[in-house]
Amino acid sequence: MNKDHVIFNIIQEEFERQKKHIELIASENYTSDAVMEAQGSILTNKYAEGYPGNRYYGGCEVVDKIEEEAIERLKTLFQASFANVQPHSGSQANAAVFQALLKPGDKILSLSLNEGGHLTHGYPLNFSGKVYQGFHYSLDPKTETLDYEDILKIAKIVRPQLIITGYSSYSRTIDFKKFREIADEVGSYLHADIAHISGLVATNLHPSPLPYAHVVTSTTHKTLRGPRGGIIMTNIEEIAKKVDKAVFPGMQGGPLMHVIAGKAIAFLEAQQPAFKDYQQQVLNNAKAFVQAFKKLGYRVISGDTDNHLLVIDVFQKHQITGLDAQKTLDSIYITTNKNTIPFDTQKPKYGSGIRIGSPAVTTRGMIEKDMEQISSWIDEALKNHKNDVVLEKLRKEISLFTSQFPLK
Ligand SMILES: *Cc1c(COP(=O)(O)O)cnc(C)c1O
Repeated sequence: MNKDHVIFNIIQEEFERQKKHIELIASENYTSDAVMEAQGSILTNKYAEGYPGNRYYGGCEVVDKIEEEAIERLKTLFQASFANVQPHSGSQANAAVFQALLKPGDKILSLSLNEGGHLTHGYPLNFSGKVYQGFHYSLDPKTETLDYEDILKIAKIVRPQLIITGYSSYSRTIDFKKFREIADEVGSYLHADIAHISGLVATNLHPSPLPYAHVVTSTTHKTLRGPRGGIIMTNIEEIAKKVDKAVFPGMQGGPLMHVIAGKAIAFLEAQQPAFKDYQQQVLNNAKAFVQAFKKLGYRVISGDTDNHLLVIDVFQKHQITGLDAQKTLDSIYITTNKNTIPFDTQKPKYGSGIRIGSPAVTTRGMIEKDMEQISSWIDEALKNHKNDVVLEKLRKEISLFTSQFPLK
């Protein structure tokens, strides 16, 4: 069979959707042609269980070079002493860290999913909350930011084996040094999960956790703009050894060599000056969103952003839930996701907010004035979410707009 037309037509349809929509999901991005080329390559044919120089299959001498290069580039990018590039995703990376450092039943202390954490940080329905005991610290109800004194207080009560910092929906700078002090005070490991902010960390636009955390995990497909996957880094040799064993043979079989090739390419791309310019524009665009939404009368959670994302309270402004806002925006080709806000009175399924991220639109070449334009479209749509005439007018305007930012 040459081509599966059913599937290829659907891929084409998804490409059209990606071109037509304004992508504001904070965890998404458009990766480069070079990365996609590697991911679609013949490397997918190769089994390479094990690590370079120590594989369970023959014929690995060529792919070994790819993994070695990926590891070296990653270590350079984050100034890390040890790196594992095999985790299939961010969740797998976290699972490997837990397996390396914890026993079943051990205690994890993290921010809860509803306040901005991740499923794999001890959520009851996730393995991390079933195999381990998940305990959570909270945000300061007034500032909606991390309260390190309170985290220390809770850590002293919980006595966790692992403290996690790094979030899916938190817009402010994280003080990793303070987290390490807390971890040391209660004799816990510190795990920094920089899945969202790794592109900013790689370009020094957010402080790096590597000098402080015992272990650092990330995805490679969010702000880092690489292929879909996970990574683990540490400066401690003993932990590096445990992590390698936990990834393989602990929880994964053959690594995805085509993805590891894509990761290697992304790590080199991220070392170029243009990537730092990109990340700076990501920050500028997120700030532009905050200013625009404030001007329109929205409450921005925590009042500002220091990174690539922000959460706005749509319920307070329009008496519409996050879920309804997401649906309304989807109907005018703006893709966002509903989000709970700290101490939300709506059920998590609905939420009072939407999360907005600038990485994808920035890759597409949009700048501050475009963020202002998008904000005003969002406001107009939410204000008129029952008015089909207005929504239809917005669809026309947005289609014209996105056609000016081609995706190759
Ligand atoms: C996205 C994310 C992950 C998980 O990544 P997947 O690749 O979807 O498994 C882990 N931790 C945090 C904080 C994230 O935001």
